[in-house]
Amino acid sequence: MQAIDQFYPLLNESKRVVITMHQKPDGDAMGSALGLYHFLQQLNHEVTVISPTNWADFLDWMPGVNTVLNFEAGKEKAIKIVDQADWIFCLDFNIFHRTKHLATHLVKATATKILIDHHEEPDTPSFQYGISNISKSSTCEMIYDFIVESGNVALLNKDIALCLYTGVMTDTGSFRFASTTASVHKMVAKLKETGFDHSSVHANVYDNFLESRLRFIGFALLNRLEVLYEYNTAMMYITKQDLKQYDIKTGDTEGLVNYLLTIKGIKFGALVIDRDEERKWSFRSKGNFDVNTFARNHFEGGGHANASGGRSSKTIDETYQDFKKIIKTYKTQLQ
Ligand code: 5GP
Ligand code: MN
Repeated sequence: MQAIDQFYPLLNESKRVVITMHQKPDGDAMGSALGLYHFLQQLNHEVTVISPTNWADFLDWMPGVNTVLNFEAGKEKAIKIVDQADWIFCLDFNIFHRTKHLATHLVKATATKILIDHHEEPDTPSFQYGISNISKSSTCEMIYDFIVESGNVALLNKDIALCLYTGVMTDTGSFRFASTTASVHKMVAKLKETGFDHSSVHANVYDNFLESRLRFIGFALLNRLEVLYEYNTAMMYITKQDLKQYDIKTGDTEGLVNYLLTIKGIKFGALVIDRDEERKWSFRSKGNFDVNTFARNHFEGGGHANASGGRSSKTIDETYQDFKKIIKTYKTQLQ
């Protein structure tokens, strides 16, 4: 993979461009993809954003989101666009299988592939150009750097600002995580100069759910939470029946895992949800307990040191019990 600055001189030639991100895109994945979309359009490229799957309703207000193709809802059209692309930007993921069924088509594509990402242990040989920086708050911050360092700061506008602010806000827990550096605040100051309204972003993302989602959180905290004080760990499981009972949609469970770390003394939070095809784990930690390595070693996953995810093809009960056995081997690390 060649360094991203080697790519900047190519930006001026008009190309067919695909931008994609990880499945079930979150604020950072969708924000970085649409931020880059609004930027590349100004440079006269023909740009299509393809999401591997659907996404949460709380992202549906974003400028440009109505142009995003959902691969699972229209495979033929998306495959054609991927096959004909000159460039494919891969944002906010580190390895192709994070794009689910789109992955085989991305691997096969003859386009120049560019990685911009902040997850641990990226699959760099699969990309011709790119940048991977795990110290970055968000992929949105990296798109901002891409625009500035390629000499195009003048092209920042309100749409780009709304998109990039969304991702940096969600990935930093509203500017509270350690990854919120001085550069992040400087970037936000620069984005604010475009005149975009940041309060509306917070309201659109965090205050726009249905009553059933709030009742679901109440139910889960009351009935599905288990605290293992011996291991400074809090855990939670959600069954298919729970999801059905509260009519839970994509995005409604986002943030649920963060409640686990709000208990005094808890260093490790683990949530497993019984999804259609697999049991999906979310891991969060405080301090130096490395959940990227934990997810890699035990649950076929990965991510960041303090926030990661994984999966299991066992039943919800089996994988939950597996976790409780595994955690016993981490007693000293968690004390
Ligand atoms: P979440 O728990 O919010 O789904 O994911 C937390 C972080 O871990 C995100 O940055 C996400 O991209 C990453 N992540 C989630 N699941 C996986 C996985 O199965 N593999 C890898 N490599 N990263 C994951
Ligand atoms: Mn991210």
